[in-house]
Amino acid sequence: MQTSAEKEVLVYGNFINGQWTEGKDYLPVFNKYTGEEIARIAKATREEVADAVTSAKETFSKKKLSPYERYEILMAAADIFKQRKEELAMTLVQEVGKVLKDARAEIDRGIQTFIASAEEAKRIAGEGIPLGQPGNEGKMAFTVRVPVGVIGAITPFNFPFNLTAHKVGPAIAAGNSVVLKPAELTPIIACKMAEILTDAGLPGGHLNIVNGLGHETGQFLLEDDRIDMFTFTGSPGVGRHIKSTTGIRKVTLELGNNSPTIVHKDAPDIGKAAELCVTRGVGNAGQACISVQRVYVHREVYDLFVQNAVQVAESLKVGNPEDPGTDVGPMISEKEAKRAEEWIQEAVGQGATVVSGGIREGSILHPTILVNVKPEMKVICQEVFAPVISIIPFDDIEEAYRQANDTRFGLQVGLFTSNLQFAMRATQALNFGGVIINDVSTYRADVMPYGGVKDSGIGKEGPRYAVQEMTDERIVVINL
Ligand code: NAD
Repeated sequence: MQTSAEKEVLVYGNFINGQWTEGKDYLPVFNKYTGEEIARIAKATREEVADAVTSAKETFSKKKLSPYERYEILMAAADIFKQRKEELAMTLVQEVGKVLKDARAEIDRGIQTFIASAEEAKRIAGEGIPLGQPGNEGKMAFTVRVPVGVIGAITPFNFPFNLTAHKVGPAIAAGNSVVLKPAELTPIIACKMAEILTDAGLPGGHLNIVNGLGHETGQFLLEDDRIDMFTFTGSPGVGRHIKSTTGIRKVTLELGNNSPTIVHKDAPDIGKAAELCVTRGVGNAGQACISVQRVYVHREVYDLFVQNAVQVAESLKVGNPEDPGTDVGPMISEKEAKRAEEWIQEAVGQGATVVSGGIREGSILHPTILVNVKPEMKVICQEVFAPVISIIPFDDIEEAYRQANDTRFGLQVGLFTSNLQFAMRATQALNFGGVIINDVSTYRADVMPYGGVKDSGIGKEGPRYAVQEMTDERIVVINL
């Protein structure tokens, strides 16, 4: 990293074999609230990507770290992240536009993701396989888990610390080497992560960073067939492209969702359910893959729920993300805020009603609640990825399950009910990677298995599960 003296902006090239290399060409990175340029990042060329892959490949074959060394490095990095928490949180405030309290929470979660990954480094194990069928006498068998090799990691803009931690932590824990391409809109925190891991003792070559645009640098990475596995978090369109480009190599894809939450009339507390739906629907300006987007509410409590939801939405403080009191800051760009505004207007043109918000100021979209929506409206059937929530009445719980399932996505779903039978039935009837009872779809504990079905992706994250994905199971048979 260098600092450009004339403007005091950070400059990051590519991080290859433990050294920052100068880029041939650079992209600006902006503060998402003020619009000022805060950094420049390299646009890695095909040759630079190839150099990074060579570094990762050679490191994997020649510079292996023991499980305990991996554990110690990841734990030491967690300690440095803790010491630098405020600075790292401020980086997220600036490059994402994330409000300060959410930025601090993301750093805390990322630290725990590193600690959980460190712990997994010491637990990687196979199992004994009984060969009990006739004809296998005199043999014993067991499995070992071995690292896959070089992992290509591609990350999105919205949680650039914790979602990068979810790739880098388990990959290092499992003994792989990594070439990371961070989101070009929010790359600074990943560059700082590499510096901190180096300070924590990670030798050069285990984590390489190539900066740049998706269709250039990202594409060069996909086309390098020395990469053994890709781990991607981002949009369904790019996920589909990655799957079709990478042949028979392993991939995990963590993609989008238009997350539903169901509120039955017997929910333990309708007011609390409304508060959670709104605050978790508009957190990070609605830019989370599990943000509450569609809320199905039993007709008997519908009016009460809408009234509570509007009250919560209108109590939220919107504006400068640096202000510790702000609840909702800017979206990632004015273009994205305008796109969401257009979707709202299109829904209104088709009969929807805005009961709160609907106002855009530059890249800030005020928390917006819609009613009278229809399944074919974009705000319902596509991923809105903005602070926009739609509330829909239902009469029968089976109808609510059907409507929640009526989507090409399947990441997570929430259900509020005090009826045990409805809750248990939901675990079978709702076709999602995660069913969250008495909380919203937006719940994620970093140690749990996390990943979707249908267009929401393939494979699981959460350090223990990511380590499974990032290791191959090898069978060993011994003739006694
Ligand atoms: P995106 O797909 O536009 O970009 C993600 C990454 O892919 C970026 O680093 C980008 O540069 C890269 N990329 C783009 N085109 C590429 C190509 N042709 N080849 C290789 N790489 C390419 O997504 P985004 O806008 O940054 O993030 C928002 C999306 O991510 C939403 O759909 C959201 O639901 C999803 N997301 C999913 C999860 C999850 O865990 N399931 C978590 C966060 C975000």
